[in-house]
Amino acid sequence: MEQISKRLMNWASILDPGTREQAEKAARMPFIYPHLALMPDAHLGKGATVGSVIPTLGAIIPAAVGVDIGCGMIAVRTQFTLDDFRDRPLAPLRVAIENAVPLSAGKYNTRLTDTARDRVEALTRGAAKAGFEPGRYAGNWELQLGTLGSGNHFIEVTLDETGRVWLFLHSGSRGVGNKIAQKHIRVAYEQCARRWIALPDPDLAYLVEGEDEFWHYIREMRWAQEFAWLNREEMMDRVVDCVAEWTGREVERREVVNCHHNYTEQETHFGKKVWLSRKGAINAEEGRAGLIPGSMGTASYVVAGKGNRLALNSSPHGAGREYSRSAARRAFDRDDLRKAMVGIEYRDTDAFIDEIPAAYKDIDVVMRDAADLVEVRHTLRQIVNVKG
Ligand code: 5GP
Ligand code: MN
Ligand code: MN
Repeated sequence: MEQISKRLMNWASILDPGTREQAEKAARMPFIYPHLALMPDAHLGKGATVGSVIPTLGAIIPAAVGVDIGCGMIAVRTQFTLDDFRDRPLAPLRVAIENAVPLSAGKYNTRLTDTARDRVEALTRGAAKAGFEPGRYAGNWELQLGTLGSGNHFIEVTLDETGRVWLFLHSGSRGVGNKIAQKHIRVAYEQCARRWIALPDPDLAYLVEGEDEFWHYIREMRWAQEFAWLNREEMMDRVVDCVAEWTGREVERREVVNCHHNYTEQETHFGKKVWLSRKGAINAEEGRAGLIPGSMGTASYVVAGKGNRLALNSSPHGAGREYSRSAARRAFDRDDLRKAMVGIEYRDTDAFIDEIPAAYKDIDVVMRDAADLVEVRHTLRQIVNVKG
């Protein structure tokens, strides 16, 4: 750990100057308490750095949660082992998963499954209680439940160090969460502009606790977090069905971990109850189970938090990008991707060149940087990868 300033603690050994500067700007906002914690996977984000933990007192920065409110990971440990998966071609399983979990609502997700219907009902009740109508943000929000999204949202079938099969996926609150986030980022910007507040970056615009706009944001953000949580459960149910069909056996869920890595929660740190925003970071309080994915061709980790007080009980949420998408496309080609994906069942397409493992930080370095934040419980290696 390196103390950059009284207000900024850093765990990243791979950190470009632009990211450092961005984190320094956020750390200087007057309502940060006690300090901003930069995680080993830190890289540039919109307004606030991805891989940072931003505690605020009496105010909140909507861009500090990011536009994918509630984005996170879910993992299920099954009873299956490598032996159950070895002698069957994996391509049909990959295709079945791709068909069961569409990338977006619309043509491919035109009606609700039974499990989705219950979740939509719960979300509808939740929205009514929060006093808002999610249909005003996205007319088809119900049909967005059970959809993966694009970019680096993914589904994997993985094996742990003992050869047990884990199902593993990454997604968030989809279009409806994005619309909610965009709206409140805009409102925060207007609020600051109205008060002639000079911001180091417009995306650091904030809402002041006690004002209506603040509570509107909190309520809708919490709903979007719940949507993301249930979205991951819904997709996992579908993936489990695919595996049951493919193996011809029922799937036992021996262990389930579901965790957000873009979210805000009230927590007590250094004696005060703060709004703690984790933007690309997970809760790593003592003993808490968490998930740290690597990339489409490297290891991922099931971890337990160590409760590091200075790190605000947090840890990285992944490897973190080292190359921007455009830089990755310039530096690597489809052949490089193929070499990185030997032995993994995936869809071989140009679309994933910017997701090549080499576009991310070295996960081994990130995990070493995180040694005082989390303990590794399992190391997962993917045998099937489905990308958004
Ligand atoms: P983010 O939530 O910031 O979009 O990214 C989450 C993290 O997931 C990335 O930093 C990267 O380490 C990891 N990741 C991206 N794509 C994949 C993938 O296909 N499989 C696995 N296991 N991890 C990935
Ligand atoms: Mn996301
Ligand atoms: Mn994410």
